Amino acid sequence: MELEQWKQKYYDQLDSLEKKEQDWEKLETTLKRTIGRLSLAAEGQHATLDRHINDLRTAIKNNINRQRLEAVVDDISRVLSKLEDKQNGPKRDSIKTLELLIEKLSLPDSAEKSRIKLLKKFANSDDTNRDSLLKDSLKLILSVIVTDDTKNEKTGIIDRLFHSKNTSEETNNSVTSNLSTDTDEQLSIYKSCLIGLLNKLDNSDSPNGKLSALKISARDAKQKRELENLSDQLSNILREKTDSTNTFVEISETIEKVDIDPSLQPSIQELLIRLLEQLIVPSDLQDEADKMKHRLEQETDPGNWKQLLKDVALLINSIRSRMQQEKHEFEDFLQQVTDRLKAMDHFLQNETSNLQLAKTQGKDFDKEVKLNVDEIRQDINQATELSSLKQNVSTKLDTISGHIKLYRESENERYQESQKEVDTMHTKMLALESEAEQLKKVVIEKNKQAMFDALTGIPNRLSYEKKSAEEIARWKRFSNPLSLAIWDIDLFKKVNDTYGHKAGDKVLKTVAQLLIKSIRETDFLARYGGEEFVMLLPGTKQEETLRLVNKLRQQIETCGFHYHGDSVKITISCGVSSFNENDTLAQVFERADKALYKAKDNGRNQCVVSSCLSD
Ligand code: GH3
Ligand code: MG
Ligand code: MG
Repeated sequence: MELEQWKQKYYDQLDSLEKKEQDWEKLETTLKRTIGRLSLAAEGQHATLDRHINDLRTAIKNNINRQRLEAVVDDISRVLSKLEDKQNGPKRDSIKTLELLIEKLSLPDSAEKSRIKLLKKFANSDDTNRDSLLKDSLKLILSVIVTDDTKNEKTGIIDRLFHSKNTSEETNNSVTSNLSTDTDEQLSIYKSCLIGLLNKLDNSDSPNGKLSALKISARDAKQKRELENLSDQLSNILREKTDSTNTFVEISETIEKVDIDPSLQPSIQELLIRLLEQLIVPSDLQDEADKMKHRLEQETDPGNWKQLLKDVALLINSIRSRMQQEKHEFEDFLQQVTDRLKAMDHFLQNETSNLQLAKTQGKDFDKEVKLNVDEIRQDINQATELSSLKQNVSTKLDTISGHIKLYRESENERYQESQKEVDTMHTKMLALESEAEQLKKVVIEKNKQAMFDALTGIPNRLSYEKKSAEEIARWKRFSNPLSLAIWDIDLFKKVNDTYGHKAGDKVLKTVAQLLIKSIRETDFLARYGGEEFVMLLPGTKQEETLRLVNKLRQQIETCGFHYHGDSVKITISCGVSSFNENDTLAQVFERADKALYKAKDNGRNQCVVSSCLSD
């Protein structure tokens, strides 16, 4: 009986063990599936983590033992804790928005260097540097919005065009005072920064008035959090913004909406004229651009201003679309070149396979001939009778000549075909060459246009930048003297104001011609901008340069310039500096510029060398 009981107990235990084992198996399958799914969800966070997750999956699939599995899990834990450390590292949430704004801001080329410098600073900073980054960003934006010409208290071009004076002054003043007092009022700095930025953007881009709405909210904001929120909205708008083809329509609408302060009209007029002069105008639009300049010079009726602004926008739009058209033409041509190259490649491939075919056919032909010759030799050896031998040899010779004929024919056919292809390729190549030649001419012409100043015909600032780099490289290599002179026409604004822009333009042309024809072939002259010129004089020391520039200055003073019968007195001032060991262009330029200011301070119509400056 007792035995029976023990037996029963043993069977029960066995049953329960079996059940447990099944349960464990089920649990294991579920666990494996869960790990598989979780690992899929965790993928894509980090490359190293992905690799370990993959190991884990393979380990589970291959049913590896517990120890190995534990090692894989250990690896994953290690990577995860490293990742966690990283995530808990320096935070960049707040500065990221600002960084994006600075990145997206459309700035003039002159501010590009500062932008790059600032973005580098962003890259090496985190949220703890936010205040300093805010200040730097603000400075950059201000340098674009507010011209530093405090003499005339000018505001930025776009502000002047489209904003009432008060708004921009309000913004700029609050911003500047924050900067100068350097207080800790982050809210006000942030606010001014955002409003300044919105002021700048609102003119170039008005996506359904979204920016204006943001501006109002920014002005009313009481907390930094609100401003951060607005910054986020702004970056979203900027991100959404695509290169709209409706720019002109938008500009037109904007112009229609704004009130132009009549007292600003003369400045707007001048700015637009300057703008047209700076543009590289395609030759067929040059007439239109000249007419527009003339209209801008003549227009005095405030009633016509909006139309005039629209017409300028329309002209700029035409210039832009003409440039786009040219770009498309270039793209089409490149496509043609690609197609032709493909055709050539195809042809060469064909030729290669033809050659291959010819080779095999040639080999077959050889074999056939050899076989027939061998047979003939055999016939001769075995011949007992001359007549049958003759018969056999002649049949074999017929076969050989048949092979030769066939081979010749197929060779001939191949040659003809290949010749035809060569001819077609040749024609195509000739067409391509002539198109390339034409294109080369266009490119040369465009490059020339881009390197020369349209008004005076002498090299422009871009040329100067290229040339100065070349001259400095030469100076470093050969250590010959190199001098730089900056010229600025005296009281030129007065010439414009008294005799009009046309007279001013004529003065610029005359001065440019006088200067360029008097310098040596190795010297270089460029219009640096406005009424300023810059000269590079390789092989000329400072004192010698001073003598030369003084001679030129006197020539200009005594040139006897006349406009519509009136004698117009023209004088010019000049600052000179030479390259010393280890100098950079920026240092020499700054010294020459200081010398020029000294010349102006001393009463104008004179040349000053930087060595005379006290510091
Ligand atoms: P300073 O002797 O101190 O140099 O006085 P300035 O009047 O020559 O200098 P300012 O910078 O006050 O004025 C320069 C003027 O040059 C302002 C602008 O109207 C004029 N200007 C710049 N570019 C051109 C141009 O292409 N054509 C004409 N006509 N005028 C120009
Ligand atoms: Mg000047
Ligand atoms: Mg001047």
